[in-house]
Amino acid sequence: MVPEAQPVVVEAQGAKTFAVPQALFDKHPGKPHLAFEEYRAKYKESIENPTQFWGDLARELLHWDIPFQTVKNGGFETGDVSWFMEGRLNACYNAVDRHAFAEPNGPAVIYEADEPSDGRIITYSELLREVCKLAYTLKEMGIKKGDTVAIYMPMIPEAIVAFLAVVRIGAIHTVVFAGFSSESLRDRVQDAKSKVVITADEGKRGGKNIATKKIVDAALEECPDVKNVIVYRRTGNEVPMKEGRDVWWHDELSKYPAYCPPELMASEDPLFLLYTSGSTGKPKGVMHTTGGYLVGAAATGKYVFDLHPGDKMGTAGDVGWITGHTYCVYAPLLLGVATLVFEGTPAYPNFSRYWEIIAKHKLTHFYCAPTALRLLKRAGDHHIKGDLSSLRILGSVGEPIAEEVWRWYHEKVGREECHILDTYWQTETGSHVITPIGGCTPTKPGSASLPFFGIEPAIVDPVTGRELVGNDVEGVLVIKQPWPSMARTVWGSHQRYMDTYFNVYKGCYFTGDSAARDYEGYYWIRGRVDDVVNVSAHRLSTAEIEAALIQHPAVAESAVVGVADELTGQTVNAFVALKDAYKNTPEMRKELTMQVRKSIGPFAAPKAVYIVDDLPKTRSGKIMRRILRKILSGEEDQLGDISTLSNPSVVEHIINVVHET
Ligand code: ATP
Ligand code: MG
Repeated sequence: MVPEAQPVVVEAQGAKTFAVPQALFDKHPGKPHLAFEEYRAKYKESIENPTQFWGDLARELLHWDIPFQTVKNGGFETGDVSWFMEGRLNACYNAVDRHAFAEPNGPAVIYEADEPSDGRIITYSELLREVCKLAYTLKEMGIKKGDTVAIYMPMIPEAIVAFLAVVRIGAIHTVVFAGFSSESLRDRVQDAKSKVVITADEGKRGGKNIATKKIVDAALEECPDVKNVIVYRRTGNEVPMKEGRDVWWHDELSKYPAYCPPELMASEDPLFLLYTSGSTGKPKGVMHTTGGYLVGAAATGKYVFDLHPGDKMGTAGDVGWITGHTYCVYAPLLLGVATLVFEGTPAYPNFSRYWEIIAKHKLTHFYCAPTALRLLKRAGDHHIKGDLSSLRILGSVGEPIAEEVWRWYHEKVGREECHILDTYWQTETGSHVITPIGGCTPTKPGSASLPFFGIEPAIVDPVTGRELVGNDVEGVLVIKQPWPSMARTVWGSHQRYMDTYFNVYKGCYFTGDSAARDYEGYYWIRGRVDDVVNVSAHRLSTAEIEAALIQHPAVAESAVVGVADELTGQTVNAFVALKDAYKNTPEMRKELTMQVRKSIGPFAAPKAVYIVDDLPKTRSGKIMRRILRKILSGEEDQLGDISTLSNPSVVEHIINVVHET
């Protein structure tokens, strides 16, 4: 059994278990939604009787205009999973109207602009009016139920207005992260067959202007089906407007009334399409549906983040990723709490920006990716300042979080007063699947801990495909039964959906990640299946070796990949970016090798350590190990799709380093 929540740290088989800090209970507005025994009981119920469990939760968390009769139908084998079928509801009504009616002046969006002085707060009633006017505009443009609308917007409140206006009239949003190039935008607009694009004249990030509208214009040269572009004036600088196609947001919205009735949608009607970040290859247009997705978002917002009335949720991630969709937009708004929209970067005007935002708005929750935490840890602890005592929950998402970084987050940012949530999930899962429950689950640094309600994970032997039962096992992570917020298809390619997720291990959803389940049933995500290195029959996780490397004071970031070797099967190779004060010397490379030997064992020691300026990353900040693997195996001409890289020029630099070493 896992120890019960109490303010002590217990040593258990090497990994320390952290109880929920007493300080969290002391500052809590009431008490957390769940105690650990309640989680255990509810979890059991959710697996044994999912129909009862999800039916009750769906009725509790959402407003249904027409109630559902059937909770769940279909399965993985047939690819026809569906939830709450007869139910009718509207996502925007659930996220905005009901709160605007109950508490019109409650804060909905906390806008923190790139320049710290430019922000503002938008109430639920203001949000409703703005959403309605945009919804009207879209209707007048001829957008109907089932049409797709692309959103290519900076992180400003109008991005959220756009999400909600689209779903209010029953259209489907497809949000493209505004850091993507015109080619990437073009591909996504074409694939989704979007009829309208909502954008801004320019963006502002880190003190620089970004030519948002120009990128849209270039993308749309090859998108004849786009009839209109709605342009929000963010900076006011001159941008070209195409006659007959482009309109100004403020001109159009000023024509229409501030109330527009929401469209009644079937539970299984599509809510949005979102393209995956492309870490593993060509991005997939993942489709989510209305009822199931919203139930997943609201349920995890309530239980995982332990959101309570009056809380202020700070998701740092962009709305262009699933994290932004679910935890910047839908979950907080469905629960009627305020959500942060942060336009800038963690480094502007300086490395204290995140902490200043938290202190200024008294955020209770903060949620970001390990890549941002590594950047801030690298910059130095003296940047962490201000009163952060409002915080109860600190979340991490997107990549495994190394123990070293977890502890830094806990000690330096959370001052040991917050619950650290390492949340594991995917674009395809829609909401958290393996995660601690806020204020409830004892945690271990580096482990995403235990499954959320309704999620039945299993570890499968990658070779035989057989399930590995019991604890202390490691292999491929799959999920054994459907849950409401899972993706229903890959847009335009249901066969790809079946092949990618359900035809790999029959009867299961294949996550593409590998994981270990420890002696207490805690899950440790090891990274992508391809990222496991097999050395002399030892299955080593790249995440584990990277976590060992980052313990060295000189290391800012690292990426480990396996390369085929005749003798040992594969060898371990490490790419390391050093902190500014450290130099690339043969001694340093030796020290780093020693670091891994000491911390994991000689068998895990890297055969080569490459010191590089930076690692190849997706625009969502994830390290793309597949590129490093290709470079090492001499397949530089077959790097595949690198259009989703945030720093393409680093590829050539790394190739040079590899050749010189
Ligand atoms: P693509 O599917 O196109 O390769 P992607 O998988 O990076 O892109 P996302 O859906 O944004 O796109 O990311 C989900 C993946 O991120 C997971 O499959 C996992 O590899 C990783 N991940 C997310 N959260 C965690 C976490 N807490 N710990 C470890 N890994 C995580
Ligand atoms: Mg993926």
